[in-house]
Amino acid sequence: MIEYENLGQLNKPFAEEYRRQLDAVLESGWFILGAQVKEFERSFAAYCGSQHCLGVANGLDALTLALRSYSFQPGDEVLVPSNTYIATVLSIIQCGLTPVLVEPDLATYNMNPALIESAITKRTVAIMVVHLYGKCAAMDQIMPLAQKHRLVMIEDCAQAHGASLKGKKAGTFGDFGAFSFYPTKNLGALGDGGCLTTDSEVLQRKIAYLRNYGSDRKYYNEVIGVNSRLDELQAAFLRVKLRSLDKINEHKRSLAALYQQGLKSDFIKPVVHPDYYDVFHIYNIRHPRRDALREYLEKNGVKTEIHYPVPPHRQKAMLPYFQGAQFPLAEEIHLTTLSLPVSYMHTADDVTRVIELMNKF
Ligand SMILES: *Cc1c(COP(=O)(O)O)cnc(C)c1O
Repeated sequence: MIEYENLGQLNKPFAEEYRRQLDAVLESGWFILGAQVKEFERSFAAYCGSQHCLGVANGLDALTLALRSYSFQPGDEVLVPSNTYIATVLSIIQCGLTPVLVEPDLATYNMNPALIESAITKRTVAIMVVHLYGKCAAMDQIMPLAQKHRLVMIEDCAQAHGASLKGKKAGTFGDFGAFSFYPTKNLGALGDGGCLTTDSEVLQRKIAYLRNYGSDRKYYNEVIGVNSRLDELQAAFLRVKLRSLDKINEHKRSLAALYQQGLKSDFIKPVVHPDYYDVFHIYNIRHPRRDALREYLEKNGVKTEIHYPVPPHRQKAMLPYFQGAQFPLAEEIHLTTLSLPVSYMHTADDVTRVIELMNKF
């Protein structure tokens, strides 16, 4: 059987070092906002090529805190891709802002730059791009639009640790990069975690307050904040895994390359372009008979996933926000997309087996 993912297996190469770090943190007696978090923040900022990094509790909080650090007014509008994971949209709603869905480019699955200007109104305050599946959005085209219209740019990098466009890494284009360290992500913790990257001294100070009850000095509160911190133990584990992030990404890229070469052309494969360094958090294909294909693979011992079966505007919870609106490309993707095994724990043989099976479908 070829599993879609196995987090126990994935973390095995790091287990010995994790145990050493667990002992060290236990010994230190310091569990929240200490040396481990500081050191992780320093090394992740350096890895990305960003001035600052701030650990927070999870990816959704990273997005939400980024929005909260501005004085946006209720009803202000934020552009967001129509085919993203629900968390991106939730962060906007949590802040009392209005999500405005923008359809993706079917070739890249990322926000289509050509549709941005027609979505901008007097109330638009920000763009939240998502580097979906591990491919950077077309930031070389989108950033000039954000600058022209003076919009805040927040990048959802939850699927794009280490991805780059023309050598510039995800999380360094906009005002903020928001990362998740959910265990399945390319850089995954052993629990929840997240962070924000930014080049702005002012924004880094704001987040440092906001994540810690609005305080940077114990028992003195400057602003209304929340409790959203990365803990020392997760930071210690993340420091271990960060040293192998390039290796993890390269491994996933090599499996993706096998799919690209091996899969017959009945399957719509991801577009690869030399300007883009894709890290394949997800390797997806599209096929008109997606559900039958998934069943066929399952019967033959290959597990797959769908990212995602229901687009945000079709989610029950979201109906009041998007009543009657049409997003045909998001629907097309959600009906036809299938994610194939592409984990750090998969081997080339695993992928070759999946390819052989798929080509007989
Ligand atoms: C995983 C993910 C998030 C949310 O991260 P959590 O740490 O689970 O809150 C947000 N956006 C995208 C695109 C994601 O894949």
